[in-house]
Amino acid sequence: MAELEEYEPIVGKGVIDELRLLAERLKGKSVQNINSTAIGGGVAEILNRMVPLLRKLGVDAKWDVIKGGEQFFNATKKIHNALHGADEEITEELWEIFWETGKRNSEELPCTSDIVFIHDPQPIALINQRDARGNKWIWRCHIDISHAQERVFEILLGHIMKYDAAVFSSPTFARELPVRQFLIAPSLDPLSDKNKDLPENVIEEVLAVYGIKDDKPIITQVSRFDRLKDPVGVIDAYRKVKRYVDCQLILAGGTAADDPESVEVFEHVKRQAEGDPDIHILLMPQNDIHINALQRASAVIVQKSIREGFGLTVTEALWKAKPVVASAVGGIVAQIKHKHNGLLCHSVDGAALAIRQLLQNPEYARRLGENGREHVRQNFLLTRHLRDYLLLFLSLYNTEDIIYL
Ligand code: UDP
Repeated sequence: MAELEEYEPIVGKGVIDELRLLAERLKGKSVQNINSTAIGGGVAEILNRMVPLLRKLGVDAKWDVIKGGEQFFNATKKIHNALHGADEEITEELWEIFWETGKRNSEELPCTSDIVFIHDPQPIALINQRDARGNKWIWRCHIDISHAQERVFEILLGHIMKYDAAVFSSPTFARELPVRQFLIAPSLDPLSDKNKDLPENVIEEVLAVYGIKDDKPIITQVSRFDRLKDPVGVIDAYRKVKRYVDCQLILAGGTAADDPESVEVFEHVKRQAEGDPDIHILLMPQNDIHINALQRASAVIVQKSIREGFGLTVTEALWKAKPVVASAVGGIVAQIKHKHNGLLCHSVDGAALAIRQLLQNPEYARRLGENGREHVRQNFLLTRHLRDYLLLFLSLYNTEDIIYL
């Protein structure tokens, strides 16, 4: 993990000094983050960087992961989809599995820190162990729940109400709630293996590992193999582009420990790509340098999600000054201003047209990419995120002075 001083050339010394001051005021307080997977997806990605940096600031921070079997993660994935507004039936039996596993985790995972920071719905039931200890509980929702299935939302609401505060990534994600709400956008770490600069030869070596030649422009989508990321839609868009511009497509993704659907989706996507040697479907182990290199090797990055949380892959692409074509859903609209730092799309045809436009206008693509990097520098770096969290933690102890983040 990088030292705090190493961020100074990127964000300025004042930002780091402020973090130190805020952290000083939290001395003696412990913070326990809890989510449902150590690997895979944006939440794990952020916690991996956030928790060590909090520690470097002297905050007593830790990260625990709940345990669950296949049935539990099957239930939580369906709940996740339903919260995104998908037409998914959550039967009584699934809810039973959900609460039962929640109860078991609560027994096995004591939440004794001063601040308990629960990420997403999977561990939401841990709040039931709240007692007279008087610690503070935050529910951090990374999902866009503005179109959630009402019944599913109402069931969870019974638990959300027991928290001291709820945090959403964007104003458009939030719902009216009877607890204090904070709006805090996610971030990336510019010094992580996923995002740091890479020498050309490393990029070439990584392409060689996957047998990809750099002889045609590369279009890439990095995502878990999840229907909501619409990998098949990306293939359809690529095929439309290919009629005009000779190019190749990379769909790179791993699976997440809390996502039981990914293997099936991967197999389906592979079948769709059969017969075209210019489509590279990569089921990758967690390898940040490889993802970084594939993103940097790309002429255009796509994120054609049907629903999206914040969409950290978009942030990563923008930071690498890549021209991005992404669906106007979830947090992507907070990241991309259409025609300024990327192109938003609403369909396969729209995506294809935008990709083609970028491939045929390298100067335009370069300008969008540069604007993208600046937008991330101003808004979505880990240091800004850390400042928001420190202010949030402090505000829990100063409920009379509302702090607007
Ligand atoms: N990611 C990765 N390997 C993969 C697929 C995704 O490291 O094979 C990372 C990706 O770089 C990003 C995160 O996982 O940092 C995905 O976050 P995002 O918010 O885009 O989507 P989520 O998976 O959380 O829905």
